[in-house]
Amino acid sequence: MCRFCSQCGEQLQDKVKFCPSCGNAASEKPTTGTADTVDFTTGGSIGFSNRINAPEIVEHIKKSKRSARGCAFVVVPLPFIIYVIVSFVSDEVKTADALVFGGGISVAFLLFYLLSCFISNAKRSWDGVVTDKRIYNKTKQVRDDDRWDTEHYTEYVITFRTDSGKKTRSVERFDRGRDDPEYYPYLGIGDRVRYYPQLSYQYEKYDKSHDSKIPCMLCKTFNDIHNDKCESCNTPLFK
Ligand SMILES: [Zn+2]
Ligand SMILES: [Zn+2]
Repeated sequence: MCRFCSQCGEQLQDKVKFCPSCGNAASEKPTTGTADTVDFTTGGSIGFSNRINAPEIVEHIKKSKRSARGCAFVVVPLPFIIYVIVSFVSDEVKTADALVFGGGISVAFLLFYLLSCFISNAKRSWDGVVTDKRIYNKTKQVRDDDRWDTEHYTEYVITFRTDSGKKTRSVERFDRGRDDPEYYPYLGIGDRVRYYPQLSYQYEKYDKSHDSKIPCMLCKTFNDIHNDKCESCNTPLFK
């Protein structure tokens, strides 16, 4: 059974008693309960959810890793295979050249895949606080056929300070008029958050007691705070 540290989100090996990343005691089995629930009639609970360990969520994370691997398995050998086939069909391309060229591209694809695995494994969950929120209206020059056009866009920037003292930011960028930020309206300055790099909606709010909506961490749909499962994808909400 796959487990995650309730403190830092690190994936845990089967029999460990403590998280190797943060030292937090690991719970015996995956828990699906809710956080220390404070029963407000209008808002949600206070406390980080332990639903990162809910079987549906664990399964989803495993599945997305599997599908990335499956995708790489198909894409990586493709240039090599195509070049070899082309070299047999066409007289222009020599087989030896095709082996080197197609093989080279395949190796480049493989390195790219391994690098992206390395980067996503290096991303760690953290707890922190929202320290600043800003909206920037910006412009950039883009080449449109034979003339330069000015493109307007908006950046919604949230700044966090993690518990280990690091400063980090979330930047949501939109073409002007197409703004639909997911984090900016939800998180307020002073909010305590937990960051989950492995989820689609990546920030969980600690204090949900003043909220009427809660985001689904897998499909990003905002649900009524009283829902237990997402009305759109039916997975447990982080409450
Ligand atoms: Zn941990
Ligand atoms: Zn959902």
